[in-house]
Parts: sequence; structure tokens; C-alpha cells
Amino acid sequence: MNHRLQRTLIYILLVTNFIVLIYFWWSGNADLFASESLSGPLLAIGRLAGLLAATLILIQLILIGRVKWVESTFGLDKLSRLHRLNGYVILGLIVAHPILLTQGYAIINDTTYQGQYIDFLKNWDTLLRAFVGYLILLATIVLSITIVRKRLKYETWYYVHIFNYLAIALVFGHQLRFGPAAEDQVFMMYWYTAYAFAFGNLIWYRFLKPLIKFSKHDFHVTRVEPEGPNGIATSIYITGDKLRDYKIKAGQFMIFRFFQKGFWTQAHPFSVSMLPESGEFRITAKKLGDYTNQLEHITPGIEVLIDGPHGVFTEEKITQDKILFIAGGVGITPIRALLESLGPKGKDLILLYSNKSRAEHIFAEELEALSKEFGFKIKNIYSDEKVDGAEQGYLDQAMLKRLVPDLVERDVFLCGPPPMMDALKKALTNLGLPKKQFHWERFAL
Ligand SMILES: Cc1cc2nc3c(=O)[nH]c(=O)nc-3n(C[C@H](O)[C@H](O)[C@H](O)COP(=O)(O)OP(=O)(O)OC[C@H]3O[C@@H](n4cnc5c(N)ncnc54)[C@H](O)[C@@H]3O)c2cc1C
Repeated sequence: MNHRLQRTLIYILLVTNFIVLIYFWWSGNADLFASESLSGPLLAIGRLAGLLAATLILIQLILIGRVKWVESTFGLDKLSRLHRLNGYVILGLIVAHPILLTQGYAIINDTTYQGQYIDFLKNWDTLLRAFVGYLILLATIVLSITIVRKRLKYETWYYVHIFNYLAIALVFGHQLRFGPAAEDQVFMMYWYTAYAFAFGNLIWYRFLKPLIKFSKHDFHVTRVEPEGPNGIATSIYITGDKLRDYKIKAGQFMIFRFFQKGFWTQAHPFSVSMLPESGEFRITAKKLGDYTNQLEHITPGIEVLIDGPHGVFTEEKITQDKILFIAGGVGITPIRALLESLGPKGKDLILLYSNKSRAEHIFAEELEALSKEFGFKIKNIYSDEKVDGAEQGYLDQAMLKRLVPDLVERDVFLCGPPPMMDALKKALTNLGLPKKQFHWERFAL
């Protein structure tokens, strides 16, 4: 199915879902708006906030579930941004839900806000459990907010997120007891189906599929080699059974869990830097933090659980015969694979490869060899070093215009550090590059 049709179907599914939900909510709450006191509208809107929050939480599971039919349409990058945005909306809704309902019932029961809150927790069935779930959700969202997240280790952020499943279980009973499902059997069926759909997708794509692929291909490491000057990166070569059935597109990435002491508790994403044409494929990780600094100690022979391939930074995005690749630092990895795959296809290719200095430059010889074999041009750019035949400085709008005068006739594939990507996105837009010709990959989920 083509991506446009897939996208339309996903939108139809979403809109239909919200229409059904609003219908059920309205049929159970419309008369509250006729109430003489403010309590009616407060209760109705509070319930709507709860219903929408619960639905958006289920959508969150699909957004982070690496669900193929969603991921191949939007790309994981866009999905993780949507996931973040959705998190903010959920935060607003779950804050509003108890405030509005407590105030509404406080008016009806002629008591104070605090009195009503205590009454809820003490006397209302399922509410204490839901409150604990609510606090967990609140804590996770607040912890995830970017500024806070930046001060946390990725693994802490990841494990905190796992508590969300507990929170969802804790609030589920509350939804059945007090949501529209309490009065409406049809809605009850709908609600169970929605849960089964979201969790089914999550469990299938995120957990079962990688396990099935692992049992079919028995992926294992064949070689581990230092890459670049002073081994600033590590290349890991992986092979498996029936590799021909394991379709990887150039530009894609996978999430790797190496079954070795000290590694198996973590799964990290890396792009494929060499396609499995020769019976093994390769990933190349720059030594950046505690995990990537240890990768050189991976032992050949150990098995690897692989989730993927994922990503839409692929040839399918190409609209023109001419292509410009822009890589910054280790952002060269998916681009290296794309050059290998596109080289024989007769396209007009240019690579602009930007690094601080030659000490950070990986794949120098391989890229030279590919460029000779397929006749494409490479321009190296070093921000902190003067090198004969290379550009010095940061790749900016003026340099882009000078080095690639026919830029608007090209597809542009960009992968590099976030500040470079942000600056170049602006520069490319200013230079008139049509949006549909611009493709990028961010090394952040
Ligand atoms: C789609 C994609 C493709 C990537 N391809 C490559 C590649 O080909 N080569 C390469 O060198 N790097 C690649 N990365 C980046 C790589 O995943 C991180 O550099 C690596 O996980 C850092 O781990 P660390 O513990 O050594 O560093 P840390 O210093 O702990 O982390 C640095 C940053 O990496 C990210 N990160 C850390 N752990 C994880 C994790 N388990 N999952 C996801 N992100 C994490 C976080 O944003 C964190 O702030 C890619 C990332 C993504 C999202």
C-alpha cells in the first residue's frame, strides 16, 4: 500500500475513533449542560477530559510501539515528536479531569474542594487505585519534559517510562467503573477493543516480532573493529541465517541488544553503515557515552536481538535524478549505506561531509573508493582545521550555495548533530529547496 493511502486510512481511523468517543460521551452527558448550577458542565467537561486522556494514552502506545504500519508512514522521528506533543496534551487533560470533577461534585454535595477530594479517595470504589496510577502518570510526564530529561540518564528516563504500564493498569478499572462504559454495553465492547488493539500492536511489534526474527535469523556478531583515526568509533559486523529474507533498506536503522554481560540490559539504535550484500552487515558507533565507549569489548560470536529495520530515510523518498548528501560527523553512517546503494543506479550524487577535524573523519578510504567506483563528488569540510583541498569553516547557506549551485534541482539527505541540522534546515529553506525534496534523520528518539 502506498504511503499516502496508508496515511489517509490512519487519519480516517483516528477521526472515526474520536467521533465515536464524543458520541458516547455526549449521549451520557448532554443533559448535564441543562443543569442550573455550574456542577453539570463541570462534570461533563471533566469526564470528557478523562475520556480523551485515556484515549490519547492508548495512542501513545501506538506512537512508541514501533508499529510498522504507522512507522513506515510517518517515520520514527516524527512519531517521537508526536509522542512528546501528545504527552503535553495528556498532561493538561489529566490535570483538568480531577479538578473539574472534584469541583463539580463539591457543588452538588455542598462541601469544600478538599472535603470532596478526601471523600473520593476514602469512599469511591476504584478511586484510590486510580489516584496512584494518576500520580505515576503525572510523575512520568513531568520527568519526561525535555529540560528535566536532559538532566537524567537516558536509561533512567526509559525505566521510569515502564511504570506507565502499571499506571494504565491501575486506572483501567476506574474507567470501566465510572466512564461511559459503566452504563453502556456497546461502549464497553468498544473500549475493550481499543485496549486490545493498542496493546496488541505494541506487544506484536515491539516484543514478539524482534523475538521471531531472532529465532529465524540467529543474529550474531562476526567482527568488531576500530573505525576512524584513533578508533574514535567502533564498527560491529553482524551476520545471521537466511539473511536474504531480512530486508534492510539503505538509510535505515535498528535497535540492538547484545547478549553479553554488561550489555544485554540496554538496547541502542544504530544505522546500518554497510548493507548485507556480502553476507554480513555493519553498524558503526561513535564513542560518545558510557555504552558506545564499551562497544569495542563486544566479543565476536555473541548473539544480538535486533528490533527493526526502521526508518524512512531511504531511497523511496527520492523525487529527483540529482541528490545531495550532507553528513555531519557520525551522521555519515546511513549516508554511507545510501551511497553504496545508489552509486550503481546512475544518479548524480554529491556528498558534503563535515567534521571538526581529520581526527573525527570516519570512512575516509571507503568513501574515496566508492566515489572512484561510482564517479560521485565528495567535498570535505573541517570547522577546526585547515586541510588542502577541503573547505574550512561551518557549512552554512553561503557555502552551500557556492558548492552546490543546482541545489534546488536535487533531493537533499541530511544527517548530523542537532545544531547543524537546525541551521541547515533553515539555510536550505532560504535557498528555495522544496519541502518534498528534503529528507533528514535525527539520531535521537
Ligand atoms: C535513529 C538513530 C540512529 C542512530 N544511528 C547511529 C549511528 O549509526 N552511529 C552512532 O554512533 N550513533 C547513532 N545513533 C545515536 C546512538 O544511538 C547514541 O549515540 C547512543 O545510543 C549513545 O549511547 P551512550 O550510552 O554511549 O551515550 P550517552 O551519553 O548515554 O547518550 C547520549 C545520547 O544518546 C541517546 N541515547 C542514549 N541511550 C539511548 C538508547 N538506549 N536509545 C536511544 N537513544 C539513546 C540520548 O539522546 C542521549 O542523550 C543513532 C540514534 C538514533 C535515534
